Amino acid sequence: MPFRGPNFSCFSPISYYLLDNAYTSSRVHAALIEAYSICVSTCPGRHFRVMELSNKGGGSMALHRTHQNGLSADFMVPLSNRKGPVYRYARLGLWHYLLQFDDDGKLKLSKGTSIDFETMAQHLLALDDAALQNGLSIKKVILKIELKDDLFATPSGQELLRRGIYFAQALPPGVNAMHDDHYHVDFGLR
Ligand SMILES: [Zn+2]
Repeated sequence: MPFRGPNFSCFSPISYYLLDNAYTSSRVHAALIEAYSICVSTCPGRHFRVMELSNKGGGSMALHRTHQNGLSADFMVPLSNRKGPVYRYARLGLWHYLLQFDDDGKLKLSKGTSIDFETMAQHLLALDDAALQNGLSIKKVILKIELKDDLFATPSGQELLRRGIYFAQALPPGVNAMHDDHYHVDFGLR
């Protein structure tokens, strides 16, 4: 992935430049770029962050057992408060993984800031469209189980349900707890 594009950037220079964790397969690369270009019109003014993809050459990655084949990607949850998008915490880089949210998606550090579930659902819809256009499909989304009802309650979340995009139904507690500051997508080849 490029480090940045018109409406997105990678979340951590350390992850990107030192750990080399921003590589992915060519189809996923094309789908991610295309999804962000869809979001330019569906989420005007919104900036997105890509978290970890795969190592150059694939293979094992610290903390990310599933990201080995270039078909998985992590995305930072978009945040907002009553005034609009919040980007302050996006600058935490790798520390972002340590942010914690309650079961309604409110940031524990700052109750006025919460996950922007509608924007997140819009991005997933764009990813679904872009995946199909690049010979892929979304095989599975991992989001903390307790946050799924909040996502599905939004207008675009309803559309995710209607499309039957598969979300993990149960997760080991440690894995579940990790997936509140980011969502993980596994793509499958079609
Ligand atoms: Zn992941």
